[in-house]
Amino acid sequence: MDISLPLIADVALDRSGRDAYSYRVNDDLAPQLRVGDCVTVPFGPRRERGFVVALERRAPPPGITLKEVLGRQDGVRLPAHLLDLIRWAAAYYRCDLGTLIAAAVPTAVRQGTKARRERFIARLPHCEQKLTARQREILAVLPLEPLALAAACSRAGCHVSTLERLAAAGAALIRETTTVREVRLTAAVERFPPTAEQQAAITAVAACLPDQHAVFLLYGVTGSGKTLVYMELAEQVIASGRQVLLLLPEIGLTPQLAARFRQRFARVVIWHSAFSQGERALQWHQVATGAVDLVIGTRSALFAPLPRPGLIVVDEEHDQSFKQDSEPRYQGRDLAVVYARQLGIPVILGSATPSLETYHNARQGRYQVLTLLKRPAGGRLPQARVIDMRTECRRQGRQALISQALLDGLKTCQAAGQQSIVLLNRRGWSPVVSCLACGVQLHCEHCDISLTYHRQDERLRCHYCGYERTMPQHCPTCGETGLSTRGIGTEQLADTLAAAVPGLRVIRVDADTVANRQAHAALLRSFAEGSADCMVGTQMVAKGLDFPRVTLVGIVGADQGLGVPDFRAGERTFQLIAQVAGRAGRGQDPGTVIVQAFDPQALAVRYALDQRLKSFYTHELAIRQRYGYPPHGGLLRLVWRGPEAAIVAAVAEEDGAALRGVLDDAILLGPGPAGMPFLQGQHRWHALIKTASRGLAQRFLDRLLKTEPKRKRRGVTLIIDVDPYAIQ
Ligand code: ADP
Ligand code: ZN
Repeated sequence: MDISLPLIADVALDRSGRDAYSYRVNDDLAPQLRVGDCVTVPFGPRRERGFVVALERRAPPPGITLKEVLGRQDGVRLPAHLLDLIRWAAAYYRCDLGTLIAAAVPTAVRQGTKARRERFIARLPHCEQKLTARQREILAVLPLEPLALAAACSRAGCHVSTLERLAAAGAALIRETTTVREVRLTAAVERFPPTAEQQAAITAVAACLPDQHAVFLLYGVTGSGKTLVYMELAEQVIASGRQVLLLLPEIGLTPQLAARFRQRFARVVIWHSAFSQGERALQWHQVATGAVDLVIGTRSALFAPLPRPGLIVVDEEHDQSFKQDSEPRYQGRDLAVVYARQLGIPVILGSATPSLETYHNARQGRYQVLTLLKRPAGGRLPQARVIDMRTECRRQGRQALISQALLDGLKTCQAAGQQSIVLLNRRGWSPVVSCLACGVQLHCEHCDISLTYHRQDERLRCHYCGYERTMPQHCPTCGETGLSTRGIGTEQLADTLAAAVPGLRVIRVDADTVANRQAHAALLRSFAEGSADCMVGTQMVAKGLDFPRVTLVGIVGADQGLGVPDFRAGERTFQLIAQVAGRAGRGQDPGTVIVQAFDPQALAVRYALDQRLKSFYTHELAIRQRYGYPPHGGLLRLVWRGPEAAIVAAVAEEDGAALRGVLDDAILLGPGPAGMPFLQGQHRWHALIKTASRGLAQRFLDRLLKTEPKRKRRGVTLIIDVDPYAIQ
């Protein structure tokens, strides 16, 4: 190293167009500065915060005077292994490094937001510890919900040290945090000995600890006890001084599951983007300093700065929410596998209905399969019945929404003091509003999408962009009165069921009734405590829930998702039905599933109900192979969007022609108007590229991106989606 040369730091900033900008490091700062540090730099007239991604002594570019790094933020350093992952992701998903880092590190961390810390105490349920009479007295006045320590002292009339002793005895939990986000601990403490199947899975993964990379598909039917496998392994990893990362889908992050982990592990954080900036900064620092053993979170938890990850678990790995649908468009599960490979540690992908990608990788021998087929808590897989709604409509002599069989089932279930869940994957009262006089359908002004009627507040909403308006009295087109609604959503379903079954207490769980995690937790808790007989909801009810008293599951419009023009429609329908069916009969009483479909012979429906996983996957893989869709071959999607329809079309056509010239073996579909041609005030064109080789695909993109300034000048944005999920 030539120390006569200046030290230059390449700093990734949160702006698109370039990976990093170079700055000179002065002699005062040089000794402390490392790659991964958060620094303040001048940018134009402003100051910005960014991360050092390279640091070396080199000759500055001729004729340019580099500006200096202004300062370094104390205590914020991305671990080298995390930076490696981020680099990989930025290259693969065609995203600027700075943009990816900005998405990976909470803004509050970059900006040094401080959160006020306070200590909270919560009583642990089912305490079996030996306590003195006085301690029992104090415990009795402590709530299960966390309470500020000072408030707890005055309530119990004791000193802080008394409470600390209670915590030390294992009867209560004291946490230092900023605000209260703890979930109430309701479920019984889980300490079962593993079954033979579970033990085999644990042993197989444990054989890779501490530092052998392998990918495991933990295929376990719903209720087979995957969680226990994760917990046993987590315990081993934590005991060896390393940390565990558990990724869950958005809806899977239920309070029930979090509570189970909290009972067993003390140093746990729930990583969720809904937390306040202060809380997120605090969590980040707690994790970075090694004060946390287990991070549970949605896809973004992948970027938690764990100092020494020892195991990664992706539960419900098939879930679509692992894919981010805005920039950076990464797939959390796929990145988890990459990360584990880079770290040289095992990763477990758990599911009762694996994604076709994972299933394919397992079949090819790239992933090791671990199987759980039994339900240790008892409970058999449910009996399934399919109701042909065409026959039902003929029988009822009208457009039937709910079958007699489902109504009878709900009645029987209620009479027996049991509970039911009914799924309909569409919220609101009704998805279509049209004029009886002129026949026009009401659409969103910003999107070419039908508005959904919500009766609760007499409003029409666009489920895509969030636009809303009051339900008009007259048709906006012809001025006649007489708007009618068509189709059914969860709001109407809940209403209809409550009216049709006398005395049936119905609650609804969807994005409209569940405004936040607390509300969700409260609803689930009250259902578990028996406050309602029937839970109606969207796919939110399909995942991760474990209610032993649920014996009936109904699925309304089971095949409606199959009409969507998307190569994953069959897979999605299969997974949804199989998952929600698994909610029935988790306890002692056997379960029943009643499925309403207009096409009961649809393979995805039939195979899901018969639990014929292998047949479905074989069938589906053959289709994917025939048409060259993933997991057979890679897929890229390009979307052009802009305010002027004609310009968007022209730019897309030009780019399409340029691409066609370099295609080789790849197949270009389009460009053409997107499935949703007008969204949020922007016109959209799209194209799909199917390639056998990813390297080739990346070369196309390199070419395309060279002409980026030209598109920009014409007001068109090009979006690149690598391994896309949304193809509309
Ligand atoms: P999954 O996530 O695979 O659907 P869970 O982990 O929720 O299943 O487990 C289902 C039920 O089985 C839970 O109530 C759990 O407490 C119970 N369970 C899991 N493992 C065991 C075991 N080894 N012995 C007894 N009960 C168990
Ligand atoms: Zn809209």
